[in-house]
Amino acid sequence: MKSHVVGIGAALAMAAGLAGNNVFAQRAPAARDFEAEIRASLQSAKTAAGFEFLGTLARICLLPQSGGENATDSLPGYISNPASVPARDTWYADPAKVFDNLYFVGGKLHSSWALTTSEGIILLDTIFPYNSEELIVGGMKRLGLNPRDIKYVLISHAHADHIGGAELLQARFGARIVMGAPDWRLVETYPNRYKTMAPKRDIVATDGMKITLGDATVTIWETPGHTPGTLSYTFAVRDNGRPVNVAYSGGTAFNFVNDRPDPGIQNFQTYIKSQQHMAAQAAATGATVILSNHSEFDNAVNKNRMIAGRGNGPHPYELGADWVRRYFQVMQGCARAAQLRLEQVRTEAVRR
Ligand SMILES: [Zn+2]
Repeated sequence: MKSHVVGIGAALAMAAGLAGNNVFAQRAPAARDFEAEIRASLQSAKTAAGFEFLGTLARICLLPQSGGENATDSLPGYISNPASVPARDTWYADPAKVFDNLYFVGGKLHSSWALTTSEGIILLDTIFPYNSEELIVGGMKRLGLNPRDIKYVLISHAHADHIGGAELLQARFGARIVMGAPDWRLVETYPNRYKTMAPKRDIVATDGMKITLGDATVTIWETPGHTPGTLSYTFAVRDNGRPVNVAYSGGTAFNFVNDRPDPGIQNFQTYIKSQQHMAAQAAATGATVILSNHSEFDNAVNKNRMIAGRGNGPHPYELGADWVRRYFQVMQGCARAAQLRLEQVRTEAVRR
C-alpha cells in the first residue's frame, strides 16, 4: 500500500510536467474524482458492516474524528478532582461468563476480559483507574474468580480507558504487565497524564509473541495506528468444550494526527496496514469471534444479555469467519475514505 502513496506522488509530478508542456497541455490527464473514490470507500465499509458493526461504522466513518494525539502531560480531571468521576450508572455493567474460559469484567462502555487457564488468569485490558477496582476485582469475585490468580495483564494500548487499572493489578497481585514498546514510552514520558495508572516497565510485546499460561496461549500482533504501540490478539476459547477462535482488535478510532496530509496520510497508511495484518492473522487462525475493548465496536454488553436466553442456540458472539473478515474491512474502508480526503487536500494544495 505504500507504493500507492508513491504512485500518487509520481502521478502528480507527471501531471505537473505535462501542464508545463504546451504540446501536451490540452491532453493532461483528467483530474482524479476524489468524491467518487471517497463514496466508494464509504460504501464498501457500509456494505461490510451490515447491521452487525454499526457502532464501528458510526465511530470511524461518520462521526467527527479527534484532531490528533495528546502531547500534553496534565492530570486527568478525575484524578485531580475525584468528585468529577462519572456517575456509576453511566459505566456500571454486570460481569458475565461468556465462554467456558472467558469472562467479561468490563463496564457499559469499556471492556476487560479474564481468560482463565489451568495455571491462573490472563487479563485482557483494564478500565479507568476509578472503575477498575469495582468492575475487574469486584466483577471477578462475583463470578467466583480470584483476582490473585491474575498472572498477566495485556494492555492493548496506553489510553486511560484501558491502562487505568494496570498499576493497581501489578502492585496488589504482582501481575506481569505486557504492552507495546512505544506505549511503554508514552507512560514514561507523561507522568502526570498516567498518574495512578503507570505500571513499572515490564514485558515489551513484539509481533508474534506468545503469552502462554497453563493450557492457554494468547498470540500478540502489533497493530500500530490508534497508538504507535497498539496490540491485537488471537487466542482460542471453549464453548461447552468446543474450541472457538477469537480475534481481538486493540485500537479503533483515529486518535492520531488525521486532519492534515502530513503526517495524516502516512498515519492512515500505518493503520490500514495494521488492519490488513490483523485480518490475515484472524483468517489464518480461523477466528469466528471478534472482540474489542469497547462495547461500541463488538456489542459486548448487548451480547452478554443474549447469552442468558441462548438455550441450545448459537453463541451470540460467534459470528463466523466471514463477519470477522468484514469487521476489518469496515476499519479499512473508513480509514481509506479519511485518507482520500487528505490526498484530495494535498492535491488541491499542489494545484494552487
Ligand atoms: Zn484508545
